[in-house]
Amino acid sequence: MNDFIPGIVVAKNDVKENDEILKVCCQEQGIVSFYGKGLKKSTSKNAYACQLFDLSEFNCDYSDSRSVQLLKSATLKNDFHGIKGDYDKLALGSVMLEIIAQLEQEDLFDVLLAGLQLLEKSPEPYMVYGLFVVRILDYLGISPAVDGCVVCGSQKNIETISLADGGFICHDCNKQYHSKPLDADFMRRFRIICKASYEVHDKIVAMNLNDYELVKYLTEFLAMHSGLHVRSFRSVNY
Ligand SMILES: [Zn+2]
Repeated sequence: MNDFIPGIVVAKNDVKENDEILKVCCQEQGIVSFYGKGLKKSTSKNAYACQLFDLSEFNCDYSDSRSVQLLKSATLKNDFHGIKGDYDKLALGSVMLEIIAQLEQEDLFDVLLAGLQLLEKSPEPYMVYGLFVVRILDYLGISPAVDGCVVCGSQKNIETISLADGGFICHDCNKQYHSKPLDADFMRRFRIICKASYEVHDKIVAMNLNDYELVKYLTEFLAMHSGLHVRSFRSVNY
């Protein structure tokens, strides 16, 4: 009864003329849907705390048995304006929200919050987004194999990355796959980001990981092996 639930707005849908349903990634409950009456009215007292990216406290009478909670009020804690005011950060952050909204897992609040905090302050938004995807791949147990050829295990003559097979492929094995050979430096950087995490952000700045092509590969890898449709990645610039 009369619960105050902290969470981040990851998606919203219009309902009727003035209402919205918010999808919120919450610390304890996972993804919670809130019905916001009158949120689209210009006079709404809560709209300011119910925008995408907003970290807010949502007041409702929470019940596990309801699929949608009726929102009573919302109080803004952080609106991540440093993300909203920067085109690249906004586009990349929107993909992060879309991934979290689609996954609907219970325990990704901390992964999202830390990712958005890092995205807001980092000079390298593509790299931060890449670290987020790497964390999600690890969470789902589908990290790319980057310590050797995914087919034969050889560490020599690595020639390319096979998205479909899940990682590096050597020259010999690629004779039957015919994947386009990739630049050795690109594969080296792909391996570094696959091994990295939020925690080492400051150490890997300026290692040339802030790269559209790199995160495009990671996003395609995630989409292929998780089945997610990461539509918003099309808005990301290069
Ligand atoms: Zn091989």
